[in-house]
Amino acid sequence: MGEHCYWEGDEIQWRVYYLSLEYYMGRSLTNTMINLGIQSACDEALYQLGLDIEELEALEEDAGLGNGGLGRLAACFLDSMATLGMAAYGYGIRYEYGIFAQKIKNGEQVEEPDDWLRFGNPWEKARPEYMIPVNFYGRVEDTPQGKKWVDTQIVFAMPYDNPIPGYKNNVVNTMRLWSAKSTNNFDLKFFNDGDYIQAVLDRNQSENISRVLYPNDNFFEGKELRLNRVSCGPTLQHHQASGSVAQIVRTSSTLPTVALQLNDTHPSMAIPELMRILMDIEGLTWARAWDICVKTCAYTNHTVLPEALERWPTSMLEHILPRHLQIIYEINHHHLQEVAKRWPGDMDRMGRMSLVEEHGEKRINMAHLAIVGAHAVNGVAAIHSEIIKRDLFQGLLRDRFQNKTNGITPRRWLLLCNPTLADAVAEKIGEEWVVHLDQLTKLKPLVNDSGFLRIIQVTKQENKMRLAKQLEQDYGVKINPSSMFDIQVKRIHEYKRQLLNCMHIITLYNRIKANPGGSFVPRTVMIGGKAAPGYHTAKQIIRLICSVAQVVNNDPIVGDRLKVIYLENYRVTLAEQIIPAADLSEQLSTAGTEASGTGNMKFMLNGALTIGTLDGANIEMMEEMGRENIFIFGMTVEEVEELKRTGYDARSYYDKLPELRQCVDQIDSGFFSPNNPDQFKDLVNILMNHDRFYLFADYESYIKCQDEVNKLYQKPNEWAKKALLNIASSGKFSSDRTISEYGREIWGVEPSWEKLPAPHEPRETEDK
Ligand SMILES: *Cc1c(COP(=O)(O)O)cnc(C)c1O
Repeated sequence: MGEHCYWEGDEIQWRVYYLSLEYYMGRSLTNTMINLGIQSACDEALYQLGLDIEELEALEEDAGLGNGGLGRLAACFLDSMATLGMAAYGYGIRYEYGIFAQKIKNGEQVEEPDDWLRFGNPWEKARPEYMIPVNFYGRVEDTPQGKKWVDTQIVFAMPYDNPIPGYKNNVVNTMRLWSAKSTNNFDLKFFNDGDYIQAVLDRNQSENISRVLYPNDNFFEGKELRLNRVSCGPTLQHHQASGSVAQIVRTSSTLPTVALQLNDTHPSMAIPELMRILMDIEGLTWARAWDICVKTCAYTNHTVLPEALERWPTSMLEHILPRHLQIIYEINHHHLQEVAKRWPGDMDRMGRMSLVEEHGEKRINMAHLAIVGAHAVNGVAAIHSEIIKRDLFQGLLRDRFQNKTNGITPRRWLLLCNPTLADAVAEKIGEEWVVHLDQLTKLKPLVNDSGFLRIIQVTKQENKMRLAKQLEQDYGVKINPSSMFDIQVKRIHEYKRQLLNCMHIITLYNRIKANPGGSFVPRTVMIGGKAAPGYHTAKQIIRLICSVAQVVNNDPIVGDRLKVIYLENYRVTLAEQIIPAADLSEQLSTAGTEASGTGNMKFMLNGALTIGTLDGANIEMMEEMGRENIFIFGMTVEEVEELKRTGYDARSYYDKLPELRQCVDQIDSGFFSPNNPDQFKDLVNILMNHDRFYLFADYESYIKCQDEVNKLYQKPNEWAKKALLNIASSGKFSSDRTISEYGREIWGVEPSWEKLPAPHEPRETEDK
């Protein structure tokens, strides 16, 4: 591992450390074989032994150490950094239990623990020789040599290294995941008191730090165990990441040799921790330490939803990390002096920009800490970056703000998951697109090539048949494979508006019932995703979708013109099976709420058309393909803001739109829950009285847009042209492009494109 470093010989040894509390890796076997170029060789070898490689692949557990987009982004970035030959490390936590397994029982989500390490993990290598002590609790002492953090309790951090192979470039990077391990002398008091058994039992308590992934997506839960984790993670990452810190200190003061990229604020305690090491251990002055810290750290923001922003109570920090809290206060002191210089006497602004929130329980605003402590702050799509520049810090430090539109790795999200389409593309334009995805534009002239359009259609049809067969096996539902596969898969969240999709389903149902002999474009609507176990409304949304499915699927009048399927346990491996079979991708978030989305990109790359709002990366997708190739509906960010200003009145839409009214009345009256008519009263109450995401305001535009989708689906040739133009326009959304931009514009690292495989090199090393 790490044998190839393309900066060897340079005077400065560059290292990028990507710090993330989540890595949503999925399976590794197929991806590893593909990136090493040995897939056909392995396939052939197993065949000779009378074995089927697909059966072997199906035995691997998903590494589900993430919740959704943020964790999957980190996984795509690791693939791209290795493929671009960057000397980059992914640092994270080795949760013993990943994201829970979702079962749907009687139309309800039930969570089961994800015991993914039960049969061992063949990809990891424990490195006990690099084990590190991490301090917690204790108090700070003033000494003649400066501040000293004493009487701490120690938990060890055991690193496990996982290989991250680049695509056919002889590079293998490392993902290092840390596991909490108790010390031998944890709580000696009990030993001395003679309670040996109690002492041994308590030992294991500290190992809870890395026991289980918190299953919240876009939601902050201020639990003490989590603070231990967000402080423990970066702490241990530091001794290492700084390679060590002494290395940063020794080299030029203007140019740290290490870049730390913070994936959201979750690892933002890295900032005070780096300061602590530089000052308390290395003996640097505040000014010198701060200069290095800011030049080393960069922060990626992933959301503007207020309920997702981390705000830790100072009382908790004081208890667990007293020295870090002191440092944060000092950072704030220097920061507010700058604010006062720039806006003299503006006390209101001081309050808004402070790292410390004084109203109610005193808290630290971690996004403010990350912005002040980083030389670069980026959003994850153009519109999101504009919004955070304007709202999150209101003008201060404006020159730090950048945009880095998210991307996905074309290795997993086309080559691996859709080999038939990948082959069809390679047949026409060669194989360079695998590492230079913008080469897909070469497909554009083929919109008039009826032979190629036919191949696109046939490929999609094959993928749909395979999925239909699988779903029939798993759920016993019969699916019409020539119906439109209309898919929305992502975490269940009010802002993602699965309820809007559900209201469309109900509207279609009502139309069929009102006109049983009418002609309708057959649809199979599939919705999948996990709800956070404590998120009551999200769980109700799942129940409603399942209840609607129950009614629709069993109504003989409807027949196979409409089917609704809840896809159980959506995860990386299921995404790989579903996305290649999609005709229509649903991206319905209220404008201004979805930072980027990456699911949208996976669908586009696999030739699904998108119905979506002008939100996140949907906007840039539209710019790439042209507005005529995507189904855009609903309010713009400006229109949403205007509606918020003038006041949103859900009832006015309810009164005005008869189809909307019928659908809401049905949900309200128990039409879909005859055994429990009150089942969905809470949902209706939210929609009518407290809807932060303005579903009714976009309902009419959404339904009309879906009518347009139906019209186009009846012209298969026109549809296939647009599908092709989607694929051909998706080059921008490669995570290779995203990572090259991070390299050039944040880390100061040039990606080594010349190390990528030459286009003429075979994709497989095939011995025939
Ligand atoms: C890509 C992906 C996501 C992110 O989907 P969005 O639609 O962008 O929220 C979530 N979960 C899994 C398993 C994914 O592969």
